[in-house]
Amino acid sequence: MITAYHRPHTLDEALRLLTQPNTVPLGGGTLLSQSTVDPVTVVDLQHLSLDTLRVNGIDPSTRSHRPDVFSGGQALEIGATLTLQALLESEHCPPALKSALKLEAPLNIRNSATVAGTLFSCDGRSPFATALLALDAKVTIVNRQSSIVNLGEFLPLRPRGLITSITMPHNPKLAFEFVSRTPADKPIICAALTQWNSGRTRLALGGYGKSPLLAMDGTESDGLEAAASNAYHEANDEWASAEYRMDVAAVLAKRCLEATR
Ligand SMILES: Cc1cc2nc3c(=O)[nH]c(=O)nc-3n(C[C@H](O)[C@H](O)[C@H](O)COP(=O)(O)OP(=O)(O)OC[C@H]3O[C@@H](n4cnc5c(N)ncnc54)[C@H](O)[C@@H]3O)c2cc1C
Repeated sequence: MITAYHRPHTLDEALRLLTQPNTVPLGGGTLLSQSTVDPVTVVDLQHLSLDTLRVNGIDPSTRSHRPDVFSGGQALEIGATLTLQALLESEHCPPALKSALKLEAPLNIRNSATVAGTLFSCDGRSPFATALLALDAKVTIVNRQSSIVNLGEFLPLRPRGLITSITMPHNPKLAFEFVSRTPADKPIICAALTQWNSGRTRLALGGYGKSPLLAMDGTESDGLEAAASNAYHEANDEWASAEYRMDVAAVLAKRCLEATR
C-alpha cells in the first residue's frame, strides 16, 4: 500500500528521499500500485528527465551531445523511465528486441511500464530481460555513488539503488525466437542470440525461473545447441518439463543462429 508519495525535480533530491526507510523508486507504477499489506513510500521519477534514448551519447531528437557511458562500438543508452512502448516504437530498437518487447506485456501496460521497473521486477519469463542479457547490456545504478554493472550480475542480486539508464551495443546482430501457449502469451521458452563481427556469440534463455539464464558467451558459435540444451537440464515447472525445454531450447538456438547469418 502506497502511504506517501514524492515527485522530486532533481536526481539529488530523489536520491536523498530514497535513503529514507521503506522508500522505493516509482517507475510506471504498474506493479507498485497493486495493493499490498506493507506500507511503502514512493519516489516518482517522472520529472527527472530519464525518459531518454541516445545513440552513442547523442540524443537523436535534439542532436545534443552527452558523454558516452559505453566504450567501443555504437551504443544505445536507454533512460530508466523510458516506457517499453516508446522503446518499441523507436527506429533505433532492433527488430528482434521489438519482438521481445511485444511479448513482455500488452499495449496498455507497455505504455506505462518503464524499462528500469521491468528489469527490477522481472522473472525468468521476461523476453525483454532475456534479449538484453544476450546483448550484454549494462545497468547504471546510483546509490551513494554511481556504478555500472553487467545485466548478468544485476539480475540475480537486484541491488537496491536508483537505476538511471541501461546501455546496450547498437551494432551486433540480435535474433529472438520463442515458444508460447498463444502468439501473445509470455513464452514458456525463449532464446536470444547476439553475434558480434568479431565472432563473439552470446546466447540467453528465458521462460523459466527467477531470472533469464546465460547459456553461452563464446568467441564462436560451435557447441551452441548443446549449450542451450545443457542450460535447461533442471528447468522443470508447472509450464513444461526440463526434457521438453532442453529439446526446444536447442531448436530455438539453432533458429537464432540461422537468423543472424
Ligand atoms: C495486473 C498486473 C499484474 C502484474 N504482475 C506482475 C508480477 O506478479 N510479477 C512481475 O514481475 N510483473 C508483474 N506485472 C508486470 C509489471 O507491470 C512489470 O514488472 C512492469 O514492467 C514494471 O514496470 P514499472 O515501470 O511499472 O515498475 P513499477 O511498478 O513502478 O516498479 C516496479 C519495481 O521496480 C522498482 N523500480 C522502478 N523504477 C526503478 C528504477 N529506476 N531504479 C530502481 N528500481 C526501480 C520499483 O521500486 C519496484 O520495486 C504485472 C502487471 C500488471 C498490470
